[in-house]
Amino acid sequence: MRAVRLTQVGKPLQEAEVDVPEIGASDVLVRVAACGICHSDEHYRAGISRMDRLPVTLGHEIAGWIEKAGVDIKHVTRGDRVCIHYLAHCGSCEFCVHGLEQFCRSGQMIGKHRDGGYAEFIKVPGRNVFALPDQISFEIGAIMMCSSATALHALNKARFKAGESIVIFGFGGLGFSALQLARAFDCEDVYVVEINPAKLASAASMGAIAIDARSADPVEQIKKATAGTGVDVALELIGSAKTMRQAVLCLGPLGRAALVGLTAETMSILPYTELINKEAEIIGVSDHLAAELPGLIEFARSGKLRFPSDALRFVDLDAEQINASLDGFQNSIDHIRTVIRVAS
Ligand SMILES: [Zn+2]
Ligand SMILES: [Zn+2]
Repeated sequence: MRAVRLTQVGKPLQEAEVDVPEIGASDVLVRVAACGICHSDEHYRAGISRMDRLPVTLGHEIAGWIEKAGVDIKHVTRGDRVCIHYLAHCGSCEFCVHGLEQFCRSGQMIGKHRDGGYAEFIKVPGRNVFALPDQISFEIGAIMMCSSATALHALNKARFKAGESIVIFGFGGLGFSALQLARAFDCEDVYVVEINPAKLASAASMGAIAIDARSADPVEQIKKATAGTGVDVALELIGSAKTMRQAVLCLGPLGRAALVGLTAETMSILPYTELINKEAEIIGVSDHLAAELPGLIEFARSGKLRFPSDALRFVDLDAEQINASLDGFQNSIDHIRTVIRVAS
């Protein structure tokens, strides 16, 4: 089969002819229909993330059809449309048995630690595939499995619920999904903090109250908009100590700040006045859980989570096109997602 692989860090991906994987009793072989090209793939190619196993086929945002199912697999069968949870996990360690497979002792990121979806076929454990309803295209089914799933996990970790207010710092891919999902939770006001005018306009057009962080301190603006109270939940999706601190300062009594963006900076908090006396919480968020995916798929099936067609671009399973798309991440500021159409 054809695959587009990382053979050397810092070098363009290369096309290769490789064997179709053999599956075991608990695996499935998926014929890839679509695979999203993610910013983290660019980090893998550039060597910003450590790559232990080369060559490796990249791609962790995958949807397709079941080609073959191992004898132990009961929940899907040949021909079923599926999307794939990107963390292959053992299912039996102390984390997996409690549904916390993100910490699995032997977890492997698909498209990093093991071959991913920039290929005609992929082998994954059967527990990693989820039925994809006909109403959701393969392209959407693929890209949902990364940033949208993590946006939902952030809302879940923050215990966000109907009737609560929320502020979202950063309106990139995660924010785009987080705003729609927050609204699907039947929330109160949603604020989006950004400095990019196009993103502010886009957030406002999707029902958010846009907070332009260039015009005034976003914390002051949110305090003013909430009559001094603050919000119930703040999501930090940027990865900066400054906006993480602002997320905490926006909180009202019993507020929760969920930190998703990555940074190595130190964040300062005044424990008594900024956290303790309002019983606020700061919550770390990493990836998402398989158990959350059926709910996410339902949000997309019911139209509550959408990706406008002008937000998607398509390329072929072609090393040159994929490399060009990865190059584009270095200067991209929009919501445009590129998806490899492998088969239809
Ligand atoms: Zn991704
Ligand atoms: Zn495990």
